[in-house]
Amino acid sequence: MCPLAACLLFVYFEFEKFLFDNNKSYADLLKCVQQQIKTIKELFLYSIVCVCVISITQILSSFALKPQSPTTMDHYFNQLTQGAIGHILNNVKIENPVFQMLAYKNMPTENQVRYRLVVSDGAYTYQCCIIMGDLALKVEKGEFDRFCLLKINRYMLNEIQNRQVIVLADPKLIVSGSQVGGKLGSPVAWDSADAPPLSNFIPNYHLNAQTNSMDVEFENDPFGDVDSAPMNKFSANNVSNSAKKHKNNYGQVSSRQTNQMSNTLNPQLACPISSITPYSNKWLIKGRVTSKTNKRTWNNAKGEGVLFAFDIKDDSGDIRMTAFKAECEKFFDMIKVDDVVLVSRGQVKPANKQFTRTSSEYEITLNQESIIEVCNDQTGCPNVSYDFKNLESMQEYFGGFVDIIAIIKQVNDVDTIIQKKTNKELLKRSLIIVDSSKTEVELTIWGEEALSFKGEIEDVIVIRGVKVSDFNGVSLSTTTNSTVEINPALEEVYALKSWYNRVKDNLQTNSLTTKMSGAFRADWNQLSEITPENASQENGIVMQTKATIYQMGKPNMYKACEIVGCNKKLIDTGNGFYRCEKCAKDTNRYQWRLIMTFGIADHSKNVWVQAFPDQTIKLVGDRDINELGELSLSDTNKLDEILRTINFSSYIFKLRARMEHFNDEARVRTQVAGVAPINYQEYAGYMLNKIRED
Ligand SMILES: [Zn+2]
Repeated sequence: MCPLAACLLFVYFEFEKFLFDNNKSYADLLKCVQQQIKTIKELFLYSIVCVCVISITQILSSFALKPQSPTTMDHYFNQLTQGAIGHILNNVKIENPVFQMLAYKNMPTENQVRYRLVVSDGAYTYQCCIIMGDLALKVEKGEFDRFCLLKINRYMLNEIQNRQVIVLADPKLIVSGSQVGGKLGSPVAWDSADAPPLSNFIPNYHLNAQTNSMDVEFENDPFGDVDSAPMNKFSANNVSNSAKKHKNNYGQVSSRQTNQMSNTLNPQLACPISSITPYSNKWLIKGRVTSKTNKRTWNNAKGEGVLFAFDIKDDSGDIRMTAFKAECEKFFDMIKVDDVVLVSRGQVKPANKQFTRTSSEYEITLNQESIIEVCNDQTGCPNVSYDFKNLESMQEYFGGFVDIIAIIKQVNDVDTIIQKKTNKELLKRSLIIVDSSKTEVELTIWGEEALSFKGEIEDVIVIRGVKVSDFNGVSLSTTTNSTVEINPALEEVYALKSWYNRVKDNLQTNSLTTKMSGAFRADWNQLSEITPENASQENGIVMQTKATIYQMGKPNMYKACEIVGCNKKLIDTGNGFYRCEKCAKDTNRYQWRLIMTFGIADHSKNVWVQAFPDQTIKLVGDRDINELGELSLSDTNKLDEILRTINFSSYIFKLRARMEHFNDEARVRTQVAGVAPINYQEYAGYMLNKIRED
């Protein structure tokens, strides 16, 4: 239209010149008219070309979009009951699933028409679906055409020649195949190895409730009666056989499944824990109990009473449940860590993240209407998994929570302390535990659990969520969120026990508690502890202390092999070369090393100690050891003078004192096993703990 209008306007303006200009001749007018006709012709042709191009584009694009726009396809796809095939083949009742028929094949019997269909639920395809009799005629007549959507009002699961067959007893056409126009989604054959796990498609009646009128019935009645399910004609044998086939897809469906028939809650109707919100009130969830607190009493302005809490977990997430007063008494004994339970009804409210560490945004308070049942069907409830950390690595988790597994080495009696803040008396029991990292830590169990603690020496203790603190170096303590178990049936428990039985007689451990606050893994002690009695113990006495050097003794300097890691004293071969026996090599290069005896003192005592090169090098500090070595040959007075400058400096020393026998004379020999500069913050922390202890 536009080119045509433009053309007419153009012509009009050209003629207008003649109408209002008298100087133009007739010949001019004629010439102009000829020119205009030519222009109109060109414009007309141009317009035709334009119109043709536009029409062709439109025709082509309409072809391309056929049969349906993507949004329509999505709409149809969303009507499919994804995962239904898998659930049905696992004998889970699915109400009115919607399938797409992908193909059909005539398989008549003597008496009747019969078609075998390949159907898709959008996620899986299955090729053993049978349609018979009058219904099969609908396929024959083309009423049920390829790609049509069928709502299956009734179906039966049969086993024919070791194959599961879904008999579509009452399919209803929702959308014809010609209207759908193609395969929806990218379903994978249920039997194939590439099939997605069935746990991806947990039947979720709550989420679908608004889209499907049939589901409303479910919404109102999560306690569906399995006995009324159409496929209940199946024997228990059939159930377990068919379940076994897809064990990998469907977790631990087992013949135990049949046990639930007598229970009131139907595990097959459980919705994912992650879908729980305050807006769903008639929910049913199934999960494994991952932790359980002890009974606790509370007493505040609102009243007082007893409560306990537990967490349950399924594939989708975990959530905290709390039971007060009557519910506490009712459910406490029933809830056991590691069991799978079904829970229905209760008050859903936002989670108090200060006290819970579950993934859900919500937590549940159980009430009078709440129903809990232990459930044998563990489908979709992963085993409790621990994330055990070595005791050796505890310092990495200060302030945090970890899971630990350890051997009980010592159990102390229950003790009480008065909490300063609240002036309340708290129960505590401390244990010493050790694990395969040969590390010992003090563990404190607080509250009622301290009183009821049943663990004994050499038992394996497993704690989920123990708090790591830097009190006394490293110490562990339980909180109300911790779960303590003694000798639970875990592979790791057996492994740790057998390790401990092997090594316990010769086990040397490092203790992190009260010791790690210093530079070394050793007890803090004072020099007065270095006595002949203590040094006479099998391994002598090892300790760390802050002490001051008060007198440097005679230095012993020698030339050593400079090869890294060797450090062997060299033998002077007399020709300017030195021999290292260890490296079996002659060399003219060497490094000086220093052995020293010197006196150290703290407030309690002074002791002569011996220090080897690895430690003396730290005392020498900035001074060039090789320069000192040369001085030991040329000017021992100068050397002594330099070494005397080390006097009256203080360090944290790690000392090892042993009784040694020399010429029938026993004496205590104290070696410096470590030298470190004083970290005053750390040292003050140690002293503070010491004050608290005393
Ligand atoms: Zn060497």
